[in-house]
Amino acid sequence: MEKSKIKELKKVLSSPKKIVVIPHKNPDGDAIGSSLGVYHYLKQNKHDISIISPNDYPDFLKWMPGEEVVIKYDAQNDIACKKIKEAELIFTLDFNSLSRIDEVANGLKAFTGDYVMIDHHQAPDDYAKYTYSDTSMSSTCEMVYNFIDFLGEAHKITAEIATCLYTGIMTDTGSFRFPSTTSATHRIIANLIDYGAKNALIHNDIFDTNSLDKLHLLGCALKNLVELPQYHTVYITLSKEELQQFNYKKGDTEGFVNYGLSLKGIKFAAIFIESAQENIIKISLRSKGDFSVNEFARKHFNGGGHINAAGGRSEMSLEETTAFFEKTLKAYKEELQ
Ligand code: 5GP
Ligand code: MN
Repeated sequence: MEKSKIKELKKVLSSPKKIVVIPHKNPDGDAIGSSLGVYHYLKQNKHDISIISPNDYPDFLKWMPGEEVVIKYDAQNDIACKKIKEAELIFTLDFNSLSRIDEVANGLKAFTGDYVMIDHHQAPDDYAKYTYSDTSMSSTCEMVYNFIDFLGEAHKITAEIATCLYTGIMTDTGSFRFPSTTSATHRIIANLIDYGAKNALIHNDIFDTNSLDKLHLLGCALKNLVELPQYHTVYITLSKEELQQFNYKKGDTEGFVNYGLSLKGIKFAAIFIESAQENIIKISLRSKGDFSVNEFARKHFNGGGHINAAGGRSEMSLEETTAFFEKTLKAYKEELQ
């Protein structure tokens, strides 16, 4: 963000404002972590602040400090719309386009104030007066740390803020292993521990709270894994019947796609999950090296994301979708060698 914009925003934030913070739909650790980080930070300066998530999120995020204040736009529409209408400033976190918040975009038509965007996805839309967009960043939580630092207030980071930001950096970097993890990321993580983030507890709360059903569903997903060695690619499918068999709950399939990428020599992994609720196939794509799943998702599956992690959707059946995927790969044979 330019220095003049930071100065301007600092002035705006110097007196109490009505503020709404919005993460993307189906928020992950980074979206909820960054929203709560901004929430706790701004709360200190007497702002009236609400977090409005487009919808609910998995239980493994529901221990985060302040999580209970999050308003769900789909389930609590009246209060969400009232907050949006009254807001003077809206922070949009961890997404690059209002299309990533579905119906909330409609609710925003009643909003007359300014937007602040903090995000690390490619190709950001141009709706915000204050845009902090950087695709080289590991996570929006790392950017929120920087944002507080730009405002000269890193000393105001409490244990609550540190816990939320640590969580988002950890989840978006695959526990600090993806190439987006830099020495600067590690320095910020070190500072967050100093500010009070309990790192071992956070890892436990996120990763070691599985249900037996979830582990059995993982077993099913791994059994369904298909390897396409000619493309150094694997994919996993989960049908709606399989999800039902293991009492699928939101978030249960989080991280499954990464198992595909753990197979030796694999450069591209996909998971196709049949959503009974949305009547689509939800797709997650992961890659290693310079094969861009962001471009692949944009071109073939109406989605997007980052170079090594992206998502999309298909309106075909599960079988048609995987057949289309296999056919599409033919054009990428050389790129995937
Ligand atoms: P995941 O596979 O974990 O759902 O998402 C991986 C990355 O791709 C995230 O950064 C997410 O924001 C992005 N992403 C996932 N699904 C979609 C989609 O349907 N459209 C776009 N534009 N991005 C997506
Ligand atoms: Mn993110």
